[in-house]
Amino acid sequence: MTPQLEPYFKQVDGLADHFIERLRQAVAIPSVSAEDERRPDVVKMGHFLHEELKKLGVETELRPLGKQPHKEHLDLPPIVLGRYGNDKNKRTILVYGHYDVQPANKEDGWNTEPFELSIDDKGRMFGRGSTDDKGPVLGWLNAIEAHQKAGLDFPVNLLMCFEGMEEHGSEGLDDFIMEEAQKYFKTADAVCISDNYWLGTEKPCLTYGLRGVQYYSLEVSGPGQDLHSGVFGGTAHEPMTDLAKIMSSLVDVDGTIKIKGIAEQVAPVTDEEKGLYKDIAFTMDNLYESLGSKTGIFPDKERTLMGRWRYPSLSLHGIEGAYSAPGAKTVIPAKVIGKFSIRTVPNLDIDEVNKCVEEHVNAEFAKLNSKNTCKVFCQHAGKWWVASPKHWNFTAAAKAVESVFKVKPDLTREGGSIPVTLTFEQATGKNVLLLPMGSSTDAAHSTNEKLDRYNYIEGIKLLGSYLHYVAEEPMNN
Ligand SMILES: [Zn+2]
Repeated sequence: MTPQLEPYFKQVDGLADHFIERLRQAVAIPSVSAEDERRPDVVKMGHFLHEELKKLGVETELRPLGKQPHKEHLDLPPIVLGRYGNDKNKRTILVYGHYDVQPANKEDGWNTEPFELSIDDKGRMFGRGSTDDKGPVLGWLNAIEAHQKAGLDFPVNLLMCFEGMEEHGSEGLDDFIMEEAQKYFKTADAVCISDNYWLGTEKPCLTYGLRGVQYYSLEVSGPGQDLHSGVFGGTAHEPMTDLAKIMSSLVDVDGTIKIKGIAEQVAPVTDEEKGLYKDIAFTMDNLYESLGSKTGIFPDKERTLMGRWRYPSLSLHGIEGAYSAPGAKTVIPAKVIGKFSIRTVPNLDIDEVNKCVEEHVNAEFAKLNSKNTCKVFCQHAGKWWVASPKHWNFTAAAKAVESVFKVKPDLTREGGSIPVTLTFEQATGKNVLLLPMGSSTDAAHSTNEKLDRYNYIEGIKLLGSYLHYVAEEPMNN
């Protein structure tokens, strides 16, 4: 362990109540980005961070993002930028987080007021934004403060980028990052994002991969208007019947994608990769618990994790225009739109996948000899991301985990996507690390969101320790 860590950890423990108080103040600002009437609170939260950074001597600025697209009466909340240290002999780490939160109302099933941090006897700190992402964002500020109060040299230059629209599509952020890549972010040597979770509750992880997603609409139409089945049933081609046939041709009940050309693009599993899964702290019971049932496809954890992380999947989501209310209505819908998406992995190519989907749908529709019309289109596409876990950014983080938690971290991927990860990688060309603070039981986005006191305080140690090891790791790529 590097010699400065001992006094740093001690200082963090000594300041624990103060750091929790800072989180309490942040949670009290209901910075819900999805609700127009809460926009002033989102802005207020941005200003709160700006002020806290200033107090710590961080060079900070608020960058406006202009009006919200399609809602010209609303200003987008500002990006909060910060720069701490500017020493050419130190590495520079760029960190990202977000200060907006998901909506929350007590009536949704919260046991406590969502915008009042409330700590129970198990040390669980309930409050909207506690774990996603105010706790981790404040973690960086707290790490700075603990260094100052312990009289320790800060080991790196830190660049900070905190946004206020993450829970609402990060509007305006991509362009901003691209634009600043060669300006404000120019000196960054690597990127660290703390905005995801441990796989379980015991063991920290470092995340090096995310799946992408491509979302499709499959539209079948025919009749000029909705029809009555008593009059037209048996005499007209029905769009819903065609759609059900095509949708059932996309994926098998065991999850196998039946679209030709997709499996062929998946990167093969290497022996080295296989070895990574064995030790990961995850059991089939963890899966069953989070499923709320025993309906898993595979009997073992390795294949289950691969199914979530490194193989593509296709899910059917719904049918727009179909009758879905309770009761019996004898309608024949004139136009129905099936919704499905594909979670993508290396080396699937966005355009290539779109082409395979189109060819498959057209071929299946042709088999039906239907006089209806059918078209499919991709609504939005986000690419997968995989980083090298051998990069010094990751080896430093692994050492930091060991210094705080006395275990080696799990190297994980995630099945979902965090689009900003790929944006930072593409814009800066630097290695990006996902270094989570919270655990799998934190219920981000859900009712009773919480962050454990343990995860918060040890997480502050982790972030600071990571920066110390970053300063020491040899340059390997
Ligand atoms: Zn988040």
